[in-house]
Amino acid sequence: MAFTLKPLPFPKDSLAPTISAKTIDHHYGKHHQTYVTKLNELIAGTPHEKSDLETIIKATAKGEGKEKKIFNNAAQVWNHDFFWDSLAPNGGQKPPENIAKYLNDSFGSFDSFRDKFVDAAINQFGSGWAWLVLKNGKFDISTTSNADCPMTSGIHALWTCDVWEHAYYLDHQQNRAGFVKAVIENLTNWQFIGLRLAQAK
Ligand code: MN
Repeated sequence: MAFTLKPLPFPKDSLAPTISAKTIDHHYGKHHQTYVTKLNELIAGTPHEKSDLETIIKATAKGEGKEKKIFNNAAQVWNHDFFWDSLAPNGGQKPPENIAKYLNDSFGSFDSFRDKFVDAAINQFGSGWAWLVLKNGKFDISTTSNADCPMTSGIHALWTCDVWEHAYYLDHQQNRAGFVKAVIENLTNWQFIGLRLAQAK
């Protein structure tokens, strides 16, 4: 069964100015689509052909050669699906009470969470992802390189921001910090974080 590009959960022009429709055209229409296409090419005729995405990611996480290529493309499909779900037009602003409580307990305040997340994102050298994760019942921040994701370390992700240059260069040029801060403040889908939190229990 071939994988298909999952539809965006919002209109492509609804995240501007933080993420423009032009960026979505490239990021979703070209980069994300290419990961899906390459994954299908790579798994054709292999036992992975009948597996779901998470099974493929876990099975190939320590692979080399072709398995590594399958991992990279499968994980990037999952990461991008997860990233789009992490965003909402008119998101951000004030987190709902149940999430605010976690943010306060784990980081002291929403502002401290935002600043720590931005710091982690700019300290991720090169391409990768910044994550809000659940660790020992608290929120925590982590980063991964390239296609890596928390799932392969058994960590439950709650939210993510793509920090590959292709995610922000058209709209923010080299300003990764400004991009991540704007995503948190303007686009965070708190409902999705609530859903992921519920799934962990
Ligand atoms: Mn990306």
